[in-house]
Amino acid sequence: MSRPRIFVDLDGTCAEWVPEGNWREKGYFLSLTPVREMTETLRLVSDIFEIHVLSWAVSPTAEKEKRLWVSEYMPFVKTDRVHIVPYGASKQKYVPGGVKQEDLLIDDYTPALFAWKAAGGRPVKFYNGLNGTQGRYRKSGGDMICRQWGSIRMAEELLKKEHNFSCTV
Ligand SMILES: [Mg+2]
Repeated sequence: MSRPRIFVDLDGTCAEWVPEGNWREKGYFLSLTPVREMTETLRLVSDIFEIHVLSWAVSPTAEKEKRLWVSEYMPFVKTDRVHIVPYGASKQKYVPGGVKQEDLLIDDYTPALFAWKAAGGRPVKFYNGLNGTQGRYRKSGGDMICRQWGSIRMAEELLKKEHNFSCTV
């Protein structure tokens, strides 16, 4: 049986969101610090899940920077599993082989998560300490992980989901 896949967003999920930053500027993305709790969580579960990055980029330069950034801070992600897609695009359209029922999307942005769910996948909202102010996702009752839990608990929550899949054959 193939491993379940995790698709993960970068901005605000694996990389710190800088509200005052100019994200169209050259060098912006390379300057971002990782959200250590998240990158560590993914490293911890990378033997169980197949980890993919799924992120928007505004330009070829931004794409290049994102790929460099991932190789620096998330070396456990294979380069052919880094999917950098046009800004604002429907992320689910770029999933190799299409979205499967057990595919998780970890993202800080609710519309992307709802679109993922509509495509048949399983959304997991990441609360990074800045987002979630409108409570829209919470009301939907979807799965979530919170930065404040730390990487051990976040990894445990993800592993529980993998366990569920294994038991529902
Ligand atoms: Mg994001």
